[in-house]
Amino acid sequence: MPAAPPITIEKDAAIPTWFRVGGRADALATPRTLDELRALVARYETIRVLGDGANLLVHDDGVDGLVLSLSHINNVERVEDDLLRVGAGANLPKLITHTAREGLAGLEGLTGIPATVGGAIVMNAGGAFGEICESVLAVCALTRDGEEVTLPRDQIDFSYRHSGLDQLIITTVDLRVRPCDPDAVRRRVKEVMAYKSRTQPMAEKSAGCVFKNPTLDTERVSAGRLIDEAGCKELAVGAAQVSDVHANFITTTPYARAADILKLIDQVRDRVRAHIGVELETELRIWRRGETP
Ligand SMILES: Cc1cc2nc3c(=O)[nH]c(=O)nc-3n(C[C@H](O)[C@H](O)[C@H](O)COP(=O)(O)OP(=O)(O)OC[C@H]3O[C@@H](n4cnc5c(N)ncnc54)[C@H](O)[C@@H]3O)c2cc1C
Repeated sequence: MPAAPPITIEKDAAIPTWFRVGGRADALATPRTLDELRALVARYETIRVLGDGANLLVHDDGVDGLVLSLSHINNVERVEDDLLRVGAGANLPKLITHTAREGLAGLEGLTGIPATVGGAIVMNAGGAFGEICESVLAVCALTRDGEEVTLPRDQIDFSYRHSGLDQLIITTVDLRVRPCDPDAVRRRVKEVMAYKSRTQPMAEKSAGCVFKNPTLDTERVSAGRLIDEAGCKELAVGAAQVSDVHANFITTTPYARAADILKLIDQVRDRVRAHIGVELETELRIWRRGETP
């Protein structure tokens, strides 16, 4: 068999994110295999992993080093009746459609969350209908030194929008599913999607919730409610504005710049601090040139 052509490393490449703003990557590669991924990890010191870009703001100056997209590492294998082994670059909404078709329950609470499986694991994505950690059995990853590690669920520090896995490059995830009636899964998917469409500006350009819901007196409260109460709804900087549907979303229109979004984030944080003395922490990941990822 002829050898596969060498991997292309694109210079000055666009970084696709849901915000559709921000600068370019000095270098971007999309490895086709784990061997190619290992070779790239050995070659570059500064590596940022791009998922679906649904929780990401790239600074207008772009980023240095290598941006790695794992979108080709996306295979889905049914290893056992109730166990899926999924490449980290697999698209989560497509995986949910697949499991609904196959009559496999467990992931449908994550309907409407744009993500790759790797990005969803790092963020422990979820909401009112559960979090991805509830389905995770194990995660395989590369360290930045290229060492392969496998972490069973009980060794992962999952909590609200947290996994502690940020320093790894997640490659494969084992997910527990439950064989059941496909119609029941499809009905649940529709219900969750209807809820999301009612409560979030799904058709706009955004990166989901900008801030984590803070804990006040041991109770987690909605950052969106605090932002609304601090009078920030529809606050705008340039072409970025606080959503009138869900105040924890910032939406953008064409010609927005990352700088607009960053300024707006600061304004919202300042207003909430002044209003009730709470310091909001960003859920959004922000990439800047020169910063260690
Ligand atoms: C319309 C909309 C609705 C949303 N609703 C929700 C919601 O209900 N609940 C929720 O939790 N989130 C929601 N989000 C946010 C987003 O969908 C999640 O945070 C999701 O997990 C991001 O996954 P991603 O693949 O896009 O990751 P990216 O945004 O590409 O990256 C996020 C972080 O994960 C890292 N990363 C990605 N892949 C890997 C990997 N393989 N290995 C190591 N690190 C990796 C990146 O380096 C980065 O630090 C929403 C976003 C949008 C735009």
